[in-house]
Amino acid sequence: MRSILTILAVIGGLTPFAHGQSPELTGDSAFIRAIYDEALARGEAHENLRQLTKDIGHRLSGSQSAFDAMDWGQGVLEGYGADSVWVMPVRVPSWTRGTIAQATAHIDGTEYPLHVTALGGSVGTPNDAPLRAQVIQVKSLEQLRTLPRASVEGRLVLFNRPMDPVLINTGAAYGGAVDQRGRGAVAAAQAGAVGALVRSMTHALDTLPHTGAMYYQEDTDSVPSAAISTVDASWLANQLMEHPDLEVMLEMNCRAFPDVEQGNVIGEWRGSELPHEIITLGGHLDSWDIGEGAHDDGAGIVHTLEVLRILKALGYTPRRTIRFVLFINEENGNRGGKTYAARAQEDHATTELRYVAALESDAGGFVPRGFRIDAADEPTALIRSWSPLFEPYNVHQFRRGGAGVDIGPLKALTPRPAMMGLSPDGQRYFDFHHSSQDVFENVHKRELELGAATFAAAVYLLDQHLPSLGKAD
Ligand SMILES: [Zn+2]
Repeated sequence: MRSILTILAVIGGLTPFAHGQSPELTGDSAFIRAIYDEALARGEAHENLRQLTKDIGHRLSGSQSAFDAMDWGQGVLEGYGADSVWVMPVRVPSWTRGTIAQATAHIDGTEYPLHVTALGGSVGTPNDAPLRAQVIQVKSLEQLRTLPRASVEGRLVLFNRPMDPVLINTGAAYGGAVDQRGRGAVAAAQAGAVGALVRSMTHALDTLPHTGAMYYQEDTDSVPSAAISTVDASWLANQLMEHPDLEVMLEMNCRAFPDVEQGNVIGEWRGSELPHEIITLGGHLDSWDIGEGAHDDGAGIVHTLEVLRILKALGYTPRRTIRFVLFINEENGNRGGKTYAARAQEDHATTELRYVAALESDAGGFVPRGFRIDAADEPTALIRSWSPLFEPYNVHQFRRGGAGVDIGPLKALTPRPAMMGLSPDGQRYFDFHHSSQDVFENVHKRELELGAATFAAAVYLLDQHLPSLGKAD
């Protein structure tokens, strides 16, 4: 604790409590206040996000821009003073959307354009030529399985179950609908259909198709699968009631290529007291290839980088080793997260390194509300006891929940690391998610900065207060 008091003496002149407004702040409260001051007064998260989204752009795994983002991330980590920066190689899928993604409904001789885009990983339409078929609507994979084969064969299946609007947790609403996107094409093909149209994963009624991952199965034909906007999906469902024989023409020329070697970009700041105990924090560098991956997950990347900058600016000396990880390939495979966890398993088995905690920011750059905690009972209680420290910043949700896809595979470690996911307000996240609107302009500078400060405060508290595993064996 002495090092913190020294730091506060040095930076005291910059903080509000030095002016007598909040004279009672001491210890953790004072250091956390200093973290927020640094993020809000001299933050670089917003400018870093501008560079990532505007200078580089979207960053699909395997693409040149993902390579560019890896170089950029290494440069920022080095510039912020990480002790060492390296790339952990990961083989990632390579897929391109192509130049054509169009669909039209044909009703009584009239053509109506529909807003569609390929789901990530989809094959194109056969021979990249237009495919024309009748449409059958279902609300679930289960419903599709109950239909007579003759009513599905040769058709396009419209998966049209909306995200549940009454769930306050929008992530849960997403989770409740996204099986249609991930497994719709396989289910459609197994039922004899020629393709799938999937209602976009958003609460918004908009004309934007929202893309996302879908997967094929080896024993099943690969049929094309496209996201259709919510407005078009609802319109098509209405038209089907009056015109059950209407046809949709779909044309896409996306395709897959051999895997590419990219990697997780890692910056390490070595611990002073417990260097063999590792705290991992991160977000994912890859994004979908429409929009700019600003909320998903440019925000998490610049949050992660900002934690290093803030703690360095405050003269902090970490007790443990802190790893800043810019994961690759969260969106369509999570191979970055899996590779990182496999290495951690190896380290646990063969070295004295112990991965004691992991944090992720991958829920957008919105105003922070709290954390999702994924840990054993004791560390969960410890983390919850910090809630009053965050009250001054309107951060108060300390709930159990999944901490993040990239760090998820670390759960399998023994002992299990304490995991925390930054939990921003999620009400508007899916307005932007995986769409052309996930751009820099839709991230609010101050909300982004508050998220970075909240993330940094959690890293600081874990470093200071998580009980040590003791000397390595
Ligand atoms: Zn994400």
